Amino acid sequence: MSMNLVTLLYLIASVCFIQALKGLSHPTTSIRGNVFGMAGMTIAVLTTGALILKLAGGQALGLGYVLGGLVVGGGIGTVMAQRVEMTKMPELVAFMHSMIGLAAVCIAVAAVVEPHAFGIAPRYQPIPGGNRIELALGCFIGAVTFSGSVIAFGKLSGKYKFRLFQGAPVTFAGQHWLNLVLGLAAVFFIFGFWHSQSSMDFLLVALLGFVLGVLLIIPIGGADMPVVVSMLNSYSGWAAAGIGFSLNNSMLIIAGSLVGSSGAILSYIMCKAMNRSFFNVILGGFGAEGATTAGAAQQRNVKSGSADDAAFILGNAESVIIVPGYGLAVARAQHAVKELAQKLIEKGVTVRYAIHPVAGRMPGHMNVLLAEAEVPYDQVHEMEDINAEFGQTDVAIILGANDVVNPAALQKGSPIFGMPILEAYKARTVIVNKRSMAAGYAGLDNELFYMDKTMMVFGDAKKVVEDMVKAVE
Ligand code: NDP
Repeated sequence: MSMNLVTLLYLIASVCFIQALKGLSHPTTSIRGNVFGMAGMTIAVLTTGALILKLAGGQALGLGYVLGGLVVGGGIGTVMAQRVEMTKMPELVAFMHSMIGLAAVCIAVAAVVEPHAFGIAPRYQPIPGGNRIELALGCFIGAVTFSGSVIAFGKLSGKYKFRLFQGAPVTFAGQHWLNLVLGLAAVFFIFGFWHSQSSMDFLLVALLGFVLGVLLIIPIGGADMPVVVSMLNSYSGWAAAGIGFSLNNSMLIIAGSLVGSSGAILSYIMCKAMNRSFFNVILGGFGAEGATTAGAAQQRNVKSGSADDAAFILGNAESVIIVPGYGLAVARAQHAVKELAQKLIEKGVTVRYAIHPVAGRMPGHMNVLLAEAEVPYDQVHEMEDINAEFGQTDVAIILGANDVVNPAALQKGSPIFGMPILEAYKARTVIVNKRSMAAGYAGLDNELFYMDKTMMVFGDAKKVVEDMVKAVE
């Protein structure tokens, strides 16, 4: 295979990746986007395999390792993707990011130890200065991505007792100064490696990266995790792009830059959606004091009713807004909700869905969930389009959502202060379905549940909504 053909195929794969990103920006085109992504990746992998064979002078030894890695890695990935529940996707994504970071570190180490094997420098010759910088940077960003993603994985899964894996921020005095000192030390050793190609400097760069990854993520609280996930996504892309420069692989540079820049844009959009300063989130731990935790207010009384009561209220309303949240996804109640909406619409009720940008556990989670149940897109409204409507709406029905409707976001000192919420509290009547008075992801109590106009309907979302469907006449 000639190098011209390799370049052409890499170009085609890159165009596929760009089309994939474009397609994934809307539910109606997302399947097409996925197909483009898969096609691009297949072309990239096969072309790289052929390129390795060419570099190995036609000997299939190196290619055997690559194919072995593809079969083992691809097999594990397939099984994991098939088994993972939708609600566990963020952990899987964090795990994938950690693997990309670790891969970048491993490749950088291998390239430093045997640069001639990667075509970076002739045998026994020093690595060129530019490549040293790329390798040290790629290794550093990869190390930050790896350890940061491991902490994010622990925080997102929420099932480990280890303190650093808890959703609550871990802060200590002088944290930001320590991060700054470690960051400057990393720059110093990257420069040292550039200057002398010292293995010790390279090792210290990697170690500092691993430590900084942990320190950067532990002070970030539960509610800010969406931004962290997309930020780590961006880091993993830059790590891959950095290594791509060292290996002189245009595909890795392009794909890495696409992931890096799209992740950065997504982080920016998430920050805007949550009214957070990007630097505040990165530095973490802001506004944690003064929070009212759920436990502190568990004794308070709430009004509760049955699914039949809720169905009666819904059936007599003129307008209803449905607010889906993480609990709806856990219960897999999306089909039942669609049926409920359909029945209400047939009775002449105006029904709309309100989607908060960070509802659920991954960006676009609720859109995917409703699309799966084939809810018509014109019934689904983004937060900024529907918030003004709550004040004129008869009933807001909140299904398994908590943080995204929590008026605590309006109170100074709350960990979610400033995060825009769906203004369900403005509706004339509010119905909330959840299983208990337990807190949402941010661990905060929710005043909405105690309002006079609120009726709690306790139980699993699927069972409760199915009962409502039966009860709506
Ligand atoms: P929350 O996690 O705040 O609340 C979900 C609620 O659902 C819980 O209070 C729970 O209460 C209830 N619930 C759980 N299971 C069921 C069930 N089977 N039936 C009925 N109710 C159930 O969800 P939101 O969607 O409101 O907010 C998302 C949160 O996740 C935000 O804090 C966001 O920052 C964070 N996040 C978002 C990410 C994203 O990218 N979208 C990524 C990571 C985190 P109970 O146990 O009493 O039933």
